[in-house]
Amino acid sequence: MQALMMDMPLLISSILQHAARHFGDVEIVSRRTEGDIHRTDYKTLERRSRRLADALQRRGAQNGDRIGTLAWNNYRHMEVYYAAGGMGGVVHTVNPRLHPDQIAWIVNHAGDSFLAFDLTFLPIIEAIAPQCPNVKAWIPMVDRDRQPTSDKIPNLLNYEELLESGSEDYRWPTLDERSAVGLCYTSGTTGNPKGALYSHRSSVLHAYGAALPDAMGASARDTILPVVPMFHVNAWGIPYVAPMVGAKLVFPGPSLDGKSLYELFESEKVTYSAGVPTVWLGLLQYVRENKLRFSTFARTVIGGSACPPSMIRAFQDEYGVEVIHAWGMTETSPLGTLCRLQAKHLDLPKEQQEKILEKQGHVVFGIDLKIVDDDNQEVPWDGKSFGNLLARGPWVVKEYFRGEGGDPLVYDEDGEGWFPTGDVATIDPDGYMHITDRSKDVIKSGGEWISTIDLENIAISHPSIANAAVIGVPHPKWDERPLLVVVREPGADVSREDLLAFYEGKIAKWWTPDDVQFVESIPLGATGKILKTRLREQFADYKLPTA
Ligand code: ADP
Repeated sequence: MQALMMDMPLLISSILQHAARHFGDVEIVSRRTEGDIHRTDYKTLERRSRRLADALQRRGAQNGDRIGTLAWNNYRHMEVYYAAGGMGGVVHTVNPRLHPDQIAWIVNHAGDSFLAFDLTFLPIIEAIAPQCPNVKAWIPMVDRDRQPTSDKIPNLLNYEELLESGSEDYRWPTLDERSAVGLCYTSGTTGNPKGALYSHRSSVLHAYGAALPDAMGASARDTILPVVPMFHVNAWGIPYVAPMVGAKLVFPGPSLDGKSLYELFESEKVTYSAGVPTVWLGLLQYVRENKLRFSTFARTVIGGSACPPSMIRAFQDEYGVEVIHAWGMTETSPLGTLCRLQAKHLDLPKEQQEKILEKQGHVVFGIDLKIVDDDNQEVPWDGKSFGNLLARGPWVVKEYFRGEGGDPLVYDEDGEGWFPTGDVATIDPDGYMHITDRSKDVIKSGGEWISTIDLENIAISHPSIANAAVIGVPHPKWDERPLLVVVREPGADVSREDLLAFYEGKIAKWWTPDDVQFVESIPLGATGKILKTRLREQFADYKLPTA
């Protein structure tokens, strides 16, 4: 029997329309690339997005066209999200921290027909424009009087001028909710990047899931500042979650250093944020050095790589900021799990609660997980046995853009497809997932596995250590043994022996790294994660003293 309810497709344009109608005067504040602070609201943002959508269509943009962006977090970037997606196109956010050749490759692979960019990235656009003949226009997102000129870029179109050429009477079309709305490429640390192509339906459902109280828990009382870039898996969904719940948005633009962030947190009364662990190192260092407090900042999501327990404690115990550790990936839109306590945990001693909160957390409805061994047999949820982590759900990819890499799924006996995350994890009886490692990073010593994340977390909790990474290096007897690579805090003089002794009693003895190497810095990838591939290359000729 067919139900008798209204059949309204789940569309991202509905999210912005909802915000414009019901939270019209809620502010969107941006620190612009120009340096000033800009203020707008949902009502204005929706109207401008409609005009932009109309303008793009008048310029020839069609259903399914990819509109690229190379931009910081700001209101114009958000307008492109909604204009491109709302009109039936696809917003394709490109990570500007990649090498220009890789950016050109991605723009061509995606087949972008227009590309909007912030002025910071003009040199990149000049470098790639000649290699990207299919881009019909390059659109600097600046006021008219700042419009750049360049003889290297064939068709430069000013953003504001373009927007004004669109009509305010434009109406959002009713689209198929399964049509594509967003395209993000994985960082491609091995091989060429692959595109995850999101639908309206998957994006709306993901935003609903993300907004739930035990997930991000966003509300109309929040002021959200996404530190995570809008080019890193759509800022984890915040550009959709915030207008859905009516939260005020604060966009930091290009200034992600501790001082700029702190000032914006305070002046705009930010309550909520999200970002990868490395960005928080800068903010914590700044507030510590200057003996500052946060007056409104209450919660932050930290994910993208393992959040060191010492960072969780610093935020919570020193600054009263609740850390929500989260796990996800480009292929899961990205949110998969978030870590918050349940009723049964509330009477546990603090140390036990802390142990739970270090995990990557519990799924939100919409995502299912399992861990399997190499024969694809499920591993028990005892919090100890680890296996390859598989995920499924309506916001998980089933295939990559243009069929790249073939069918990525793993099928169970019932024929259900699961996405292999490439992570190794445990799940406890309460369903809390804990990442041991990425399968390509885990160290195999004498047939047993050693978690590099655990070893790194211990090193980072040492007061003299600013950052740490562990890689496996060849060993004649054990196959591989851990090498600890560290950056000292400025002025600290901790020795190899001190660090190795620091592991005593914290882990099984045979997990202790075989050696320590001190470096000036640890290579980071385009989304702020440690680039272990680069680190392994750096230490390719290194020989362990134990070998
Ligand atoms: P890429 O895979 O291209 O680096 P993603 O941003 O999609 O880009 O990265 C997803 C991966 O990041 C996950 O598969 C996992 O290995 C890692 N990751 C994400 N969040 C966490 C976390 N909280 N703890 C540990 N690893 C994480």
